[in-house]
Amino acid sequence: MKKYLSILTMVLTMIQIINGQEELRKQAEQLSKELIIIDTHIDLPGLLQNKWEDISKTASGDFDYPRAKAGGLDVAFMSVYVAARYENNGAKSEADSVIDVVERILKTYPDKFARANNPDDVYKNFKDGRISLPMGIENGSPLEGDLKNLKYFYEKGIRYITLAHSKSNHICDSSYDPERKWKGLSPFGKEVVKEMNRLGMMIDVSHITDDAFYQVIELSKAPVIASHSACRFFTPGWERNMSDEMIKALAKNGGVIQIAFVSNFVSQEIRDKEANNRNAIAEYLKANNIPANDRRGSEYSNRYWKENPVGYADVKDVVKHIDHVVKLVGIDYVGLGSDFDGAGDSFPHGLKDVSYFPNLIYELLLAGYKKEDIRKICGGNLLRVWTEVERIARLSK
Ligand SMILES: [Zn+2]
Repeated sequence: MKKYLSILTMVLTMIQIINGQEELRKQAEQLSKELIIIDTHIDLPGLLQNKWEDISKTASGDFDYPRAKAGGLDVAFMSVYVAARYENNGAKSEADSVIDVVERILKTYPDKFARANNPDDVYKNFKDGRISLPMGIENGSPLEGDLKNLKYFYEKGIRYITLAHSKSNHICDSSYDPERKWKGLSPFGKEVVKEMNRLGMMIDVSHITDDAFYQVIELSKAPVIASHSACRFFTPGWERNMSDEMIKALAKNGGVIQIAFVSNFVSQEIRDKEANNRNAIAEYLKANNIPANDRRGSEYSNRYWKENPVGYADVKDVVKHIDHVVKLVGIDYVGLGSDFDGAGDSFPHGLKDVSYFPNLIYELLLAGYKKEDIRKICGGNLLRVWTEVERIARLSK
């Protein structure tokens, strides 16, 4: 009898747990509709520039209207990505042609997407049920050494600039580039920071070196953003993510780190597997005297990666990064910057595309976050920074 009773208690507890989880799922779903969700880095324009697709239906990338709606995504910052090779080589006109893609989206689907040049536009579009598509340029090369180009792009709707991408440019150094040409910001880069403050454009510190970051923090009168970065605490030594010291400096500046979802940004385990693959490939090519850049080399490499998949991080890893920032500096300095459509097939289990935001919110609820915290993480913090950047610009006029 005793045995049956304990089994019965176990079953009842399990039912309670399942009911509790279901309750949290419902709550997460509701919050995803009720709160303004902002993602500060989506690389859709680059995809559509290569090949236009009808994004009012399910499309081939990580973002389209049906999935964004299902996910409750309200503000998708369109990344106007300009590759490092355009530096001194047509960067401004490349940026213009990517901006044209965003313009085409706005013109093609006026009932679904809308321009958003400031937080007020965001609130208005949210009420209308349309998805806001503000823009940020990824890589400052399009400024082409002329401060007047900042105004030019501001007028076209650009609201942040990631100062550099994979290579050092005429503005500052890149974390991916071993060459540290400027030891931070260039003299022109310092002028860019001041002019962005004056215009009310957000400065994006993702991708740049630590030195460049600290120089921006020292110079900028306004809070800055990291549009898609994660915590170096979990990926020691990897400069593309932000160290605890940097996150503290960012919080002191009133800025926000928008956590990227990419598996190898959030999981050291994935990074280790990637390094193992790269080493194994390099050893094989060396032992067989195959140059890495010839056909046999790339064929071997492609096959090796296919046969030795590194797998994916989990949505819980992303929550760990959010948690880390919150424990370090508080709830007001963290947000979301997925890098969807910018990182191939490398998004975590449970956070694969723009339809998964309710699942992220569910995990935040499981981790003990309350509605007000989740509101800040999902977009409130970014809106606070954007509003402050505009206020400071008004003061200087
Ligand atoms: Zn990037």
